[in-house]
Amino acid sequence: MGEAPVEEKPESGAAKAESAKSETAKSETHEFQAEVSKLLDLMINSLYKDKDIFLRELIANASDACDKLRYAAITEPDLLGEDAELKVNISIDKDARTLTIHDNGIGMNHDDLVQNLGTIARSGTEAFLKKMKASEGDGEAVADPNLIGQFGVGFYSSFMVASKVEVFTRRAGDDAGWHWESKGRGKYSILRDDAVARGARIVLHVRKSEADFLDPLRVRHIVSTYSDHISLPILLLGEDGAAETLNEGSALWTRPASDISDDQHKEFYRHVAHLPGDPWMTVHMHAEGRFEYTALVYVPDMRPFDLFDPARTHRVRLYVKRVFITDECEGLVPGYLRFMRGIVDCNDLPLNVSRETLQRNPLLAKISAGVVKRILSELEKKAKKEPGKFAEFWENFGAVLKEGIYEASDHRDKLMKLARFRSLTSGENWISLDDYTAAMVEGQEAIYYLSGDDATGLEKSPQLEGFKSRSIDVLFMTDPVDQFWLPTAVNFGELPFRSITQGSADLDKFETVAKSDATEASDGDEAQASEGDMDKLIALVKLTLGDEVKDVRTSSRLTESPVCLVADEGDVDMHFERLLRQHQQPVTSQKRVLEINPGHSLTRALAGLVGREGASEALEDAAHLLLDQARILEGEALPDPASFSRRLAGILTKTLSA
Ligand code: ADP
Ligand code: MG
Repeated sequence: MGEAPVEEKPESGAAKAESAKSETAKSETHEFQAEVSKLLDLMINSLYKDKDIFLRELIANASDACDKLRYAAITEPDLLGEDAELKVNISIDKDARTLTIHDNGIGMNHDDLVQNLGTIARSGTEAFLKKMKASEGDGEAVADPNLIGQFGVGFYSSFMVASKVEVFTRRAGDDAGWHWESKGRGKYSILRDDAVARGARIVLHVRKSEADFLDPLRVRHIVSTYSDHISLPILLLGEDGAAETLNEGSALWTRPASDISDDQHKEFYRHVAHLPGDPWMTVHMHAEGRFEYTALVYVPDMRPFDLFDPARTHRVRLYVKRVFITDECEGLVPGYLRFMRGIVDCNDLPLNVSRETLQRNPLLAKISAGVVKRILSELEKKAKKEPGKFAEFWENFGAVLKEGIYEASDHRDKLMKLARFRSLTSGENWISLDDYTAAMVEGQEAIYYLSGDDATGLEKSPQLEGFKSRSIDVLFMTDPVDQFWLPTAVNFGELPFRSITQGSADLDKFETVAKSDATEASDGDEAQASEGDMDKLIALVKLTLGDEVKDVRTSSRLTESPVCLVADEGDVDMHFERLLRQHQQPVTSQKRVLEINPGHSLTRALAGLVGREGASEALEDAAHLLLDQARILEGEALPDPASFSRRLAGILTKTLSA
């Protein structure tokens, strides 16, 4: 990735100044990818107080490296060799002012080093940089210290405490070992060193100002705070050569639920989720019987950065008998729960098959079903017991969970019951479909909804007026996903969903309650129009607009506005059409129905005029203006703004000079 050795290896090219100066002729100097350099500058100049996290990051890497080796050794046991007990050793040399973190895991070869420690290797770090960029002031990058703590930023955080970092590493099974070294300022060097043992030994040359980290007490404390959940032994080697184990060393999920503290959950969550913040909900389950598995999964308290990536991949790790297999196991967690983080460990899956074969194992589907069922029932409990807290969850992940309504037919009812909505009457609250149905009016036979981009904009829709005046609640469907499940999830119980911008409203059967101010517009008696005149007006508007509309009719939907547009029964809802267009999807424009409020003083005046004088150019202009007005109310662009402007100016001139 934009990375090339600045100097060639002597054996493959001419050694230039830099490597000639270095101690051995084989050393090659590389430049960090620009983003990494920037990150390192931030680390070096960091004012972040809790620098402890560098150790958490290095131990996490060591643990990952051991996981990888354990997995590789399933098919290639020789990789482990004599050195089969995987562990992390930490040692301190006060005189040399070095802190060393040593693992005997998978290690890195030359290209791994360039790729992993010279470029941005993971999305979390990229997200961090984006955030940094966002908070960049006047050209100068300002490190918001808290961001570092939240994101961790991996290996590079070691430069918060070290003036120089060395990595001695050998990839399992390789003959060649490597010595990587950098002061974090733009460059790093790599030197071949075959004396290096398998795994990775990270040597931090601790800055004078950070000498604290050379204190065993401090190291012990950091490890027990951040890394107790790590499932391999972490040892602190004393000056006398004695080794002290700093952590419990068993996988967190294998411990009884009652033995795990909130803090341990938090640390484990950060470790597996790569997310700042705390778990919003924890599900720790153990299933026994025909097959045995354990799941320890969390709902995050924030949206992961890739939540809406088209790939919709989840990040729950799969373990088999405590051996990490993959964090990309398709089918372990469905797309609509992809925000979950954590692990599933199964005892009955075979260890010695490829990831791909594992993915197709029927047992996996059964485990997944069990875990999903449990997650949904925990969510249900949470929704009942703590509605306020559940609302936080819903705001983060509701749009994702709703994907399950059309994807997971076996859980559709459960998901519909979990779903929350804003509505005409909900204000800032979230209501459930049960809340909605409990508040339905006499004779109501459908769940009414209105689709749009956001609730605040929707509140002003003219199509709501008739519902408002009849105290009928209308749900606001503001997530794009709603346009997918609404057409499929026809019913909630017995009740169908009906868009109020589609088809005929059929509201006349309900009594209006708030007649007083809602019908204000029709109270004026300056112009009276008979029903026959209204029919004539409709005929005239229809004739004038011709192909521009599908139909023109009177409406029971409106009380205050003179007109509105709706989609015809069976046509695509208007919001959905706009949405498709926004996403560059092919859509054929559908003709809409123009609905006219027969009680509005404007339409009554127009009808009176048609009745008295018949068609005229002024009335035709008015017909076009009515349609344009309805388009504007819909938030749609006018197809012919020039004509609109000419007609409006004409009518205004006439009125004002009359
Ligand atoms: P992350 O761990 O999130 O990928 P890091 O910056 O912590 O990001 O590490 C970058 C990469 O460097 C790791 O993904 C891994 O491939 C490699 N790496 C880091 N430490 C080690 C180690 N101790 N052993 C082997 N590989 C390592
Ligand atoms: Mg890491």
